Amino acid sequence: MTEARVSVMDRGFIFGDGVYEVIPSYGGYFLRLEQHLDRLDASLAAIRLDNPLARDEWRSVLRRLVGAPPAPDQSVYLQVTRGAPASRDHLCPADVAPTVFACASPIKPRRPEIATEGVACITRPDIRWLHCEIKSTSLIAAVMMRREAEDASALETIMHRDGVVTEGAVSNVLMVASNTIMTPPNSHLLLPGITRELTLLLAEEHGIRYLEEPVPLETLRNADEIWLSSSTREVLPVTRLDGAPVGDGRPGPLWQHMDRLYQAHKEKVRNG
Ligand code: PLP
Repeated sequence: MTEARVSVMDRGFIFGDGVYEVIPSYGGYFLRLEQHLDRLDASLAAIRLDNPLARDEWRSVLRRLVGAPPAPDQSVYLQVTRGAPASRDHLCPADVAPTVFACASPIKPRRPEIATEGVACITRPDIRWLHCEIKSTSLIAAVMMRREAEDASALETIMHRDGVVTEGAVSNVLMVASNTIMTPPNSHLLLPGITRELTLLLAEEHGIRYLEEPVPLETLRNADEIWLSSSTREVLPVTRLDGAPVGDGRPGPLWQHMDRLYQAHKEKVRNG
């Protein structure tokens, strides 16, 4: 990877003019590959950049990166930028070829304390733009939020707009009240998370009630359980919010149930 080169004029570097995906693979098999590639298509269409690779080409590049089954658990990072024109101009000439970069790295196993103790989160106003459905490489707000969380000894920052929850800096947010999962509906205010969608599918399959509706911050604070979802972190139980315990301060029973369903689903993927 240290030998890969990119031009200093690359629009990803100069403008953050690009989009990306992170796709987990278990044993050499991707989890929800087509959904990730659909979201890549949607992000590219939103920034009006033609996908430089056909679906089959993506599949073969990605499979080559993770290796043939049985392979170690890895996540693939891929990004497409608008390429490297000769000069810096917000308007990009039509003949510039996009830059494609992809690499695989090991997925770290979850620390066992997470299942017994959960993780801490803080809340902050959502300072991002109004196209959060695009998986853009312009991540400065997420970088700032991650730093704020770290400084508060928390794992993640949960954001809200005028008191209504949007998502985490690098994850989606779900909560449980009265044995029902609640999560903000997809919109331009949050990324349509693939793990969020899988969690809701598993809930549906196993008769767990869920609602996709706006979640006021106060409702989140009073939740029995709070979960974060993301492709590399799976579904995590949040047990402290802004220093106060969530529910009884321990990972809740519905999270334990969902985690078992999620792990079983992963094992099915791993076995091809
Ligand atoms: N929301 C944001 C802002 C993210 O950056 C991510 C993942 O990186 C997610 C949600 C979770 O998305 P997924 O489950 O597709 O990984």
